[in-house]
Amino acid sequence: MEILYRDDAYAQSCEATVTTVDERGIQLDRTVFYPTGGGQPGDSGFLRGPAGDIEIVNAIKGDGPDGVIHVPAEGAAPPAVGSTVVAELDWERRHRLMRMHTCMHLLSAALDYPVTGGQVGEGKGRLDFDIPEAVLDKEEITAELNRLIADDHAVTEEWISDAELAAQPELVKTMSVKPPTGAGQVRLIRIADLDLQPCGGTHVTRSGEIGCVEVRKIQKKGRQNRRVSLAFVD
Ligand SMILES: [Zn+2]
Repeated sequence: MEILYRDDAYAQSCEATVTTVDERGIQLDRTVFYPTGGGQPGDSGFLRGPAGDIEIVNAIKGDGPDGVIHVPAEGAAPPAVGSTVVAELDWERRHRLMRMHTCMHLLSAALDYPVTGGQVGEGKGRLDFDIPEAVLDKEEITAELNRLIADDHAVTEEWISDAELAAQPELVKTMSVKPPTGAGQVRLIRIADLDLQPCGGTHVTRSGEIGCVEVRKIQKKGRQNRRVSLAFVD
């Protein structure tokens, strides 16, 4: 399967051929849909075909490193294998996810502690940090994040081999999320000189596109764990 979201996170739709339909969902020869993974939810949208539109409520990982399964709404009539469809994202939702996902990279740069987990949502996101003491201040983190966002840093990608990543374990910040290795090459996402880490998700190209955010709460989750939750201000 040709994965279009990886080379162009701004691709909103593509023409594709239906290759497989089974109880898991619909597979295509190419797609713009990002499958759930790495703390980012799967995309939703439509497959528009000759027999009508099929609502896609989620995308999940399929077979192999590049497999994507489009999960149709309950009761939707499946498309015929071999038919041509236009795969179209719910772009407003995906763009919010891209903005918040990119903001999570900035949050991990703003707080220099090990990350133990995280979750990206449409209007909000959170990261868990391994911090023994309550040293975090909501207003300070909010101000620092909005400064990094307003500086409008470039968000770029680099590729290294699995072996090069294995030799630089310090690049892996999020202990609970396994880097997307296995295909021989790993994608790193760089935000200027602030952050560099392996990531298979979708990102905006400039930090300014994230927009204004605020830290909503900082919770204690376990003895050494602090959860920092933030949301868009708009
Ligand atoms: Zn990322």
